[in-house]
Amino acid sequence: MTKEVLECSFCGKQKADTNLLIAGLDAHICDNCIEQAHGIVVEESKHQNKEINSDLMLKKPKEIKEFLDNYVIGQSQTKKVMSVAVYNHYKRLLQSSNIEDDIEIQKSNIVMVGQTGTGKTLMAKTISKMLNVPLAIVDATVMTEAGYVGEDVESMLTRLLQAADYDKEKAERGIVFIDEIDKIARKSDNPSITRDVSGEGVQQALLKLLEGTIVNVPPKGGRKHPDQKFIEVNTENILFIAGGAFDGIERYISKRLNMAAIGYKSSQKTDEINPKNLLQYITPRDLKDFGLIPEIIGRLPVLTHMNPLDESTLRAILTEPKNAIVKQYKKLFKMDNITLSFEDDALDFIVKRAIEYKLGARGLRSLCEEILTDAMFTLPGTEEKSLSVDKSYVKKHLSRNKLKQLKAVS
Ligand code: ADP
Repeated sequence: MTKEVLECSFCGKQKADTNLLIAGLDAHICDNCIEQAHGIVVEESKHQNKEINSDLMLKKPKEIKEFLDNYVIGQSQTKKVMSVAVYNHYKRLLQSSNIEDDIEIQKSNIVMVGQTGTGKTLMAKTISKMLNVPLAIVDATVMTEAGYVGEDVESMLTRLLQAADYDKEKAERGIVFIDEIDKIARKSDNPSITRDVSGEGVQQALLKLLEGTIVNVPPKGGRKHPDQKFIEVNTENILFIAGGAFDGIERYISKRLNMAAIGYKSSQKTDEINPKNLLQYITPRDLKDFGLIPEIIGRLPVLTHMNPLDESTLRAILTEPKNAIVKQYKKLFKMDNITLSFEDDALDFIVKRAIEYKLGARGLRSLCEEILTDAMFTLPGTEEKSLSVDKSYVKKHLSRNKLKQLKAVS
């Protein structure tokens, strides 16, 4: 009886010519064929992922808003505007591979105007989470014109590449959130002789990026250096969302609305105007008056505003979002088998303090941390199985001094 020669059932290589031959039921496979097959599996799953992504892109505006509702409280007008802008942005991506007519859909970059802590960054984060695309959060204040101390405007694309694990294709469909866009507004209406390094120059540098261009990006950041290899990034399909507090813009809005001063009724229109929240009437012209150059405004065609957070919104932020602060602390305590609960009067008291000390939504977290630190230190490892936080517990753990300190850092 001749001995059977074992060979790979895929490529036919004999066992002696392989590093490894694995036996199946009626067949064998060599190490080389395994690697090739693995490569095919990886490619195929990438392809499937893309299909999944394009499904995501087709979420309808209402569904986008519903997703936002899970994480962001209130701001319903902005959510609506953003949902439509994001929907149109991704529709534009789908059509860019198939332009039969000459109608090219323009980019729908967004600018959000609202006080700090009203959820602008949260909104951008939530959208990137929903679409499963990389997000870079950059600060416009550190940007200067190339050649000056600070960061080049292109550095925001380095961040995006990093967020996309250097997958260029992924980065090219990502989102860049530019915070504090208002800080690069022209400082005054009179162009001065000295160069406005961090103002108009940066706006000029931003223009091309916003519109869509191919940029050589240093993958590790830093200044461009002749020896450094660049990655070419096309910004055409990157969604830019800019945010800023635009402190004092109400002045331009009220002027435009023909109100001599906030609250002073001088035109017939004032009946409908709520002087407490003038941001809701913002138009591109106000951004221009504030000092953004018209070209930038034109490239951020979707303009929306964030409402200030009132008591009921702050109260809801504590308990309602999917990862609400209270839910997070409950989870932390649960890990030590302790059931944490908050009485309504305790939550109301926390919100009142946040308002009184102007701590905003960001302050809610620090307040809760302050209230619960003692318990988080002493309870683990004891027999205690529950902690109910009521108003008196909160009062006991929130000293006036502490509140003042929190205010100072917020
Ligand atoms: P901004 O970018 O406007 O300064 P952020 O998005 O960073 O504000 O908000 C600060 C924190 O406050 C967030 O981490 C979030 O927990 C909370 N927050 C602010 N606004 C809201 C909101 N409308 N809904 C839920 N949480 C909010």
